Amino acid sequence: MIALRQLPHYINGHLIPGGDSRWGEIFNPATGQLTARVPLASAVETGKAVAAAAAALPEWSDTPPPRRARVLFRFRELLEQQLDELAAIVTGEHGKVLDDARGEIIRGMEVVEFACGIPQLLKGEYSDQIGSGIDSWSIRQPVGVCAGITPFNFPVMVPMWMFPVALACGNTFVLKPSERDPSASLFIADLLAQAGLPKGVFNVVHGDKEAVDSLLADARVAAVSFVGSTPIAESIYATGTANGKRVQALGGAKNHLVVMPDADLEQAVEALIGAAYGSAGERCMAISVAVAVGAVGEQLVPALARRVRALKVGAGTEPGMEMGPLVTRQHLDKVRGYVDLGVAEGAALLVDGRELRLAGQQGGFFLGGCLFDRVSPDMRIYREEIFGPVLCVVHVPDFEAAVDLINAHEYGNGVAVFTRSGHVAREFVRRIEVGMVGVNVPIPVPMAFHSFGGWKRSLFGDHAVHGPDGVHFYTRLKTATGRWPQDAASSASFVMPTH
Ligand code: NAD
Repeated sequence: MIALRQLPHYINGHLIPGGDSRWGEIFNPATGQLTARVPLASAVETGKAVAAAAAALPEWSDTPPPRRARVLFRFRELLEQQLDELAAIVTGEHGKVLDDARGEIIRGMEVVEFACGIPQLLKGEYSDQIGSGIDSWSIRQPVGVCAGITPFNFPVMVPMWMFPVALACGNTFVLKPSERDPSASLFIADLLAQAGLPKGVFNVVHGDKEAVDSLLADARVAAVSFVGSTPIAESIYATGTANGKRVQALGGAKNHLVVMPDADLEQAVEALIGAAYGSAGERCMAISVAVAVGAVGEQLVPALARRVRALKVGAGTEPGMEMGPLVTRQHLDKVRGYVDLGVAEGAALLVDGRELRLAGQQGGFFLGGCLFDRVSPDMRIYREEIFGPVLCVVHVPDFEAAVDLINAHEYGNGVAVFTRSGHVAREFVRRIEVGMVGVNVPIPVPMAFHSFGGWKRSLFGDHAVHGPDGVHFYTRLKTATGRWPQDAASSASFVMPTH
């Protein structure tokens, strides 16, 4: 019998076996097979990764920004060359279809491309002659050792929202990836080393709450970036900030797509299907609520139902599939539980994905697309994040009611409106209390040079990720005032200097 693969940590440029770690299990979601074990780091092991990042900090933060950027240029080239290999790793542990895995890597690569130009954003500002013979200028300096704690659903893209920006700004990094699909982060660590990143600048420590708690308690960690579910995001923000750290903590979502009566129905249906069922709904920007305005529901709902029944579900490695399995058996059970709950709450289950049977895939964590109609705002399937292939349709009488419905929800990550009216679209963008808004675009994920972040209980902290906000998060502002007097010493001044 072949021994099961055991993942190592990656600390100070070395693969470190999980000595005193506890162990977690990794599965292939399409077959249900156990494929590897992942070490769950103790506080001592986590501390070693932080120590490596702290030791590497003085030299890396002193390295001229263009030289830091050159490492990222090389990293980007390696990523492109090995895209297929990395995509296969993602699909093997997450389950998403291969093209979608490639897509997430390319979106991550775009952040690397943004980070290659970060020297331009570190320039600061300069004011000549703010007083007689006095100048003032500002610079942005690295914050120090940064930690990233990431979710299972984008094992490449979400870490890449963080570390390329942190590294380009002169920080060192400890990544604690999801324990459910952690292999991609080791592949990335190897590419960074090949690109010439010095030892200790980027470290990977696998683990769960114990590793996270020790990162939050460690005084050497200056900043924490978290992406995951809202209860954990909230507690990480509270603990991290109480411990004096800078924290950005992105949480869960319930994203609505409003279909106005004047929308192009075919476009709206296709947009809803891709956005609700792509990646089996395991996206923080997935659409999980369709808001049908006025009479549009009469045509929208049957068209959606037809399309959901025709979804091509199978292993992510199988060509032509639109949707793969869910990530783990436990998550499958949770999502199925929500479908049971929706029925019990009285919503109309028009398409029941629980009935899906796939020949030859009995062990996989599959659930077919589910479509609920007549969902009301008091139901738990409307209020809570399901994070699976379940779309809820809510009917509202008019535009005002759609805006009120969405603004009353606790989450505010992404939202979209489908309409042919410029006026409606403009009003929607201005009035909706959500961080990322799409106009006839179902998943409005900002490009790398803008910043990504939700509102309300979808983000705790003041900074979104990547783009200008990312640079601000990973740097500290310093403002200097100076003069070079040529005359004899001036006498003491006891009043506020004015100009
Ligand atoms: P999760 O909250 O279970 O886990 C996220 C990370 O936190 C993992 O690294 C995990 O090991 C760690 N963690 C888990 N429990 C912990 C605890 N008790 N204490 C400390 N750390 C803990 O999230 P997930 O299931 O991996 O990912 C799905 C969630 O992530 C969804 O809610 C989704 O909306 C959210 N998400 C949000 C965004 C966004 O940009 N807002 C992006 C992607 C995913």
